[in-house]
Amino acid sequence: MGSGVLVLNATYEPLCVVSVRRAAILVLSAKAVCVADGEGFLHSVRHELPVPSVVRLTRYVRVPYRATVGLSRRAIFARDGWRCAYCTGPAETIDHVFPRSRGGRHAWENVVAACARCNHSKGDKTPAELGWRLRTKPAAPKGVAWRVLGHRAPDPRWASWLDLPAEEAAEAA
Ligand SMILES: [Zn+2]
Repeated sequence: MGSGVLVLNATYEPLCVVSVRRAAILVLSAKAVCVADGEGFLHSVRHELPVPSVVRLTRYVRVPYRATVGLSRRAIFARDGWRCAYCTGPAETIDHVFPRSRGGRHAWENVVAACARCNHSKGDKTPAELGWRLRTKPAAPKGVAWRVLGHRAPDPRWASWLDLPAEEAAEAA
């Protein structure tokens, strides 16, 4: 049944992802309208409702946003595309670019996904000391898709609301 339903504010701004059940309650109570159908139908005693994929709230809600995405292992892997930051091989570990043993911080700017081999041979050295280069400068992920989805894979039907290229969303799904 997919990973959930994308909820848009009355202004079409993406807000969050909720369960199909929660979205159906919003629609049936007229708090939201369906803007894109998913697959199949929901049945209740009195209603037959297409499973929603995207719903829009009928009244604008003011939502405070968290300024940054939470730093978790899964989120780091997702940001780095599950690729080692040094050799682009499949990532299995998290590496602190400036080693923690030397005071490196556990922060978005100092963590990268890494394969076990690179992580092991890097040890407590910095990339500069080894003559290694990072493919990209690590930073906290930004943008509406990260705020709404976190590390969740987007439903391809949501691409246009989340400013995602359709192919990328289809690939991730
Ligand atoms: Zn590697």
